[in-house]
Amino acid sequence: MEKIHGIETIRRNYTNGENNPNYKRGWWTESGYKVISENGKDIREHRLVIEKILGRKLHPNERVHHLDGDKSNNKPENLMLFPTGSEHIKFEQKINSFAKKLMWGNLDEKLGKRVKKLFDNFKE
Ligand SMILES: [Zn+2]
Repeated sequence: MEKIHGIETIRRNYTNGENNPNYKRGWWTESGYKVISENGKDIREHRLVIEKILGRKLHPNERVHHLDGDKSNNKPENLMLFPTGSEHIKFEQKINSFAKKLMWGNLDEKLGKRVKKLFDNFKE
């Protein structure tokens, strides 16, 4: 397994987007991130997108979160920057516990049943 910046990678080239003028050759990391080559350096695309918006390099401690949970969706509106990894983790834990509450508890009975039904339908 090859490693880029400590990330295990699979060398699978993108199969789409070649007609896009912004198309860049890249590959996916084992954990689902897109890596592209920028000025001869390999960088995870979601970090590069934020760097371009901020006009500066990201500090290694800074973390980028994908709001919709899809690590391949690197549109700027899907990305959220955290100053440290621990703040990112805190945020994710809050979201996770909120989602669990939403699905399984702390809901009035009627709404709870509707949410459970939606969830059950989704599983099928
Ligand atoms: Zn995250």
